[in-house]
Amino acid sequence: MGMTMTQKILSKHAGKELCAPGDLIEADLDLLLGNDITTPPAIDIFEKNSFGKVFDTDKIVMVPDHFAPNKDIKSAEQCKRMRDFAKSQNIKYYYEQGEEGMGVEHVILPDNGLVLPGFAVIGADSHTCTYGALGAFSTGVGSTDLACAMAAGSTWFRVPEAIRVDLKGKLNPYVSGKDVILYLIGLIGVDGALYRSLEFTGEGVAELSMADRLTICNMAIECGAKNGIFPVDEKTIEYLDARVEGGYKEAPEWLFADPDAVYEQTITIDLSEVPPMVSFPHLPSNTHAVGTFDKTKIDQVVIGSCTNGRLEDMKKAAAVLKGRHVAEGIRAIILPGSQRVYKQCLTEGLLEIFVDAGCVVSAPTCGPCLGGHMGVLAKGEKCVSTTNRNFVGRMGHKESEVYLAGVEVAAASAVKGYIASPAELE
Ligand code: SF4
Repeated sequence: MGMTMTQKILSKHAGKELCAPGDLIEADLDLLLGNDITTPPAIDIFEKNSFGKVFDTDKIVMVPDHFAPNKDIKSAEQCKRMRDFAKSQNIKYYYEQGEEGMGVEHVILPDNGLVLPGFAVIGADSHTCTYGALGAFSTGVGSTDLACAMAAGSTWFRVPEAIRVDLKGKLNPYVSGKDVILYLIGLIGVDGALYRSLEFTGEGVAELSMADRLTICNMAIECGAKNGIFPVDEKTIEYLDARVEGGYKEAPEWLFADPDAVYEQTITIDLSEVPPMVSFPHLPSNTHAVGTFDKTKIDQVVIGSCTNGRLEDMKKAAAVLKGRHVAEGIRAIILPGSQRVYKQCLTEGLLEIFVDAGCVVSAPTCGPCLGGHMGVLAKGEKCVSTTNRNFVGRMGHKESEVYLAGVEVAAASAVKGYIASPAELE
């Protein structure tokens, strides 16, 4: 029986010739991630069990991004706990606020060239699935798993069944990877890929930028997937070559799916048929094409996060906002996803466009995405956000509402004051 990409990676890391769905395996890990919320409990478990030293100081990444810069005393203590541990363990990839390379974890790990095709990665954060865009197996775990893996360098998995998502055609203007993943989640529901591996294939893959692929894999968890994964192509190699120390020229030969790999189901998406999408409260699967619903007035717009905080996203936002101003009464908050993206926005004149348009530009942080800080919603407020979750109370009061969308729809909505297509501004 042939294997999927995910099965190939898991079997390689478990030292096995073959892996089949349902197998329980122990896999060696290439990279482990923790943040300021999930790492302190992992450290407690690590120390309580007297694990001593981490298995490899160069394979652990710690990022204080959720409530940092520290929003209160509790978050300050959490960040300090992680910082002190990282220092005492000599963790190579501890990122401090303001450092080059710092930012929202799922923006910076790929951008800093830390994830390679064929890697097995875990992170104590559900959106660790983002790195599948680079041809890696990458998934979220809990703090206990992180603690044990920091000591052992390995963890166990149940090998997932796979769903193939066959992409064809080309995206239309104002449509991006965000719309593609919202479209898919709308089709299959929030549990439509439960514990499955979502493997994206087909001629349409080549039409997607790396930013599109990262956004799509980022939200694989929002339909329950264990991981999302893209094949490695010229765009992946070019992306990595510019970021990996010493360059990157070729993916491992063993990585690609076998022609007779078994998929439980194949879903075909014609990219040319995907419209600009919005997910209404309170589930990512509650999708609607922009223009098919009544005028929905909003109070706030957030552009950023691990889903849409990359330079490509900032450029798209700036293209819509240039020479325009946010509507009266609207708060538009823009969060470049990393220090590097922030600097690129600065040098390329995007910050000026945002400020002239009446936007608030924040330091790179998760901030409002999880209702933490920098844009928490009050009772009854509505927000269009480029983040990935719109559950009850996700960005603030339990009676606030979050509408998920791509960057261009979010920026156009800020200008109009209601959920709008960028086409309305032409
Ligand atoms: Fe989680 Fe939001 Fe931060 Fe992404 S930006 S890691 S979804 S809190």
